[in-house]
Amino acid sequence: MSFLETDIKFLKGVGEKRAKLLDAEMEIRTFGDLLYTFPHRYVDTSRFYKIDEFSGEMPAVQVLGKFVGFAAEGEGARQRLKASFHDGSRFMEVTWFSRINYFKNAYQKGIPYILFGKPTYYNGWQMSHPEVSNYDVSRPPQGFRGIYSIPEKMRKRGYSPKFIWELARNLIQHPRFNDIGETLPHEVMDKFSLMPLRDALVNLHFPKNPDMLRKAKERMKFEELFYLELHILRYARERGRKIRGFLFPKIGEYFNGFYKCHIPFELTGAQKRVLREIRDDMRTGRQMNRLLQGDVGSGKTMVAFMTMLMAADNGFQSSIMAPTEILANQHYETIRKWGDSVGLKVELLTGSTRSKARAAIHAGLLNGEIDILVGTHALIEDTVQFRNLGLTIIDEQHRFGVAQRAKMWKRGDTAPHVLVMTATPIPRTLAMTVYGDLDVSVIDELPPGRKPIQTFLKFDNCRMEVNALINRELKLGHQIYIVYPVVHENPKLELLSVETGVERIRGLFPGVKVCMVHGQLKQAEKDYQMEQFVSGAARILVATTVIEVGVNVPNASVMVIENAERFGLSQLHQLRGRVGRGAEHSYCILMTKQKISGDTRKRLSIMTETTDGFLISEADMKMRGPGDMEGTQQSGLAFNLKMADLVTDGQILSVARDAAESVLNAHPELLKVLESNDVKYAGEKLWLSTTSLDVLSGELVKRFAKTYDWSQIS
Ligand code: ADP
Ligand code: MG
Repeated sequence: MSFLETDIKFLKGVGEKRAKLLDAEMEIRTFGDLLYTFPHRYVDTSRFYKIDEFSGEMPAVQVLGKFVGFAAEGEGARQRLKASFHDGSRFMEVTWFSRINYFKNAYQKGIPYILFGKPTYYNGWQMSHPEVSNYDVSRPPQGFRGIYSIPEKMRKRGYSPKFIWELARNLIQHPRFNDIGETLPHEVMDKFSLMPLRDALVNLHFPKNPDMLRKAKERMKFEELFYLELHILRYARERGRKIRGFLFPKIGEYFNGFYKCHIPFELTGAQKRVLREIRDDMRTGRQMNRLLQGDVGSGKTMVAFMTMLMAADNGFQSSIMAPTEILANQHYETIRKWGDSVGLKVELLTGSTRSKARAAIHAGLLNGEIDILVGTHALIEDTVQFRNLGLTIIDEQHRFGVAQRAKMWKRGDTAPHVLVMTATPIPRTLAMTVYGDLDVSVIDELPPGRKPIQTFLKFDNCRMEVNALINRELKLGHQIYIVYPVVHENPKLELLSVETGVERIRGLFPGVKVCMVHGQLKQAEKDYQMEQFVSGAARILVATTVIEVGVNVPNASVMVIENAERFGLSQLHQLRGRVGRGAEHSYCILMTKQKISGDTRKRLSIMTETTDGFLISEADMKMRGPGDMEGTQQSGLAFNLKMADLVTDGQILSVARDAAESVLNAHPELLKVLESNDVKYAGEKLWLSTTSLDVLSGELVKRFAKTYDWSQIS
């Protein structure tokens, strides 16, 4: 049996009973499991804090001092042991709530101990259940020490993080530790001067110094991302091998005619570039799977339409799918107008299409009369069949289940080309990873002449001013969005709600028609309310975030977001994108309560400083920082990055991707190894199936727009 696969019970300090506990509480069953359970943070153990330096925000710290007295208090289950501890500056109280008899006799008065714990303040400084260790004057502690997180249940049974630390030490001192083999190719290690695996493992548990720790982390991150990329490349190549695509060799009458005579504006440089990328895809004989990212208002619809013209020029039908009826309607209006100008027949199919019309559409699709079908997910129902669907476009994909995307891909023998469009600004490296086998195009330029939206951060006490602005804009004939974080009031949350908001707004602006949209309305009601606003019948729309994706009401000039502090930056950006689509001057007002933290204010003021979606999403991610991946980890994916963070480690990711690519090119036989399931490297844990990758991409998208959890918000 390999060292890593050895049952944990054989490790010094474990045994049968503790092995069961480690398995049940921490899923540690083997030496390998333990070795890959890394400290979640590190403390500088050469530093002792003085009690009079303590502050409430401190994480766990070290104090050096002596116990002056112990006293048991209370009865039965309420019993606790209290000790008074003095460090030369002050006293603090140390409390134990369990295993009192043990602790009562464990320590002596008057000799120096090091206490490690989180200080809290309650009638003086306190620590409960600190780690206590002897202080050896001849060997003062130095360097960094890893702190492991252990589950509550184990703490209650008297185990401290130090227990894992000791086990890790026993493991690393094990005579067979040196059996652990290297898991990265030498050429890659040399090229990027990566730390060897064993050194990295040792330093992660027992860092020699901060620099070695950094190198160790880097090496582990690299390894994870390298294997992740290898697998992704493998799927990409498999796809390249397997899925044939239609050849669209021609650019013909439809495309050229539209471009020369009917296009209502000059394409931006970015639109042209993306169209060239798409055009190249269509000449390879392989299926296009392309993700088109472009900020709100960057003109993705025109790119979509001109791609459909390429399909039409080669005798193929196209479809475009939107996440909601409203969006489908809007696309239909636009695309039908453009289609008419060149003589292409465009139809709309949604859940509310009447059965008679539906039957006619089904027939028109089968006999090829219809060139372009616009719709919601109604168009991927099995009854919908095309004569020759050559291209399918998915708009605002994050609101589609990935399963739906997969469903589209499977239809027909030769797969239609797929273009997925999204305004969710995900950094490019990340997009390449989460969408794995999709190629990425970016529209990084807005059409000329856009007036930047003026964004203000306003506190509750400035409502008069905000109302005055709304009034002025209403008088100019413009429309207003007001967004609330929740539907109903909840006294615990102190958030403003749509429900009370709509009443307040009606009171403030009598005679102005106000409509209301939120996720708890029936679809038909939602559509009706939305239609009121789109048509201009209603002048103010009060809503939750359900409106954020894609809705286009050029006449809207003000976006007010209540409790803006509750939203992620990317989401605020999406919401803001609803205005500035036509009206001369547009405004976005971020309303917050007066008491917000400095961090929140800093976060929100990014919105007032820039309108660049990519900058905003990057800032958003930096501020949220790593450690946010838990959602992904808990969702039980076959995928588990222990060290690397797809968001913050973008740089390592792109290096790892290049490395994976060149390794795969140099050793094509690796593909076979990757295909077999018994891969034996540490990267093994990263085994991905296409499905888990898809789930992951969904998870990540959720993460970027953290509050995108529709079920909770709307
Ligand atoms: P999004 O990328 O958010 O889907 P749209 O496709 O809805 O953006 O485009 C936003 C607006 O910009 C539309 O009114 C569209 O007609 C207009 N538009 C798109 N491309 C250009 C361009 N090159 N020049 C001027 N206006 C453009
Ligand atoms: Mg759009």
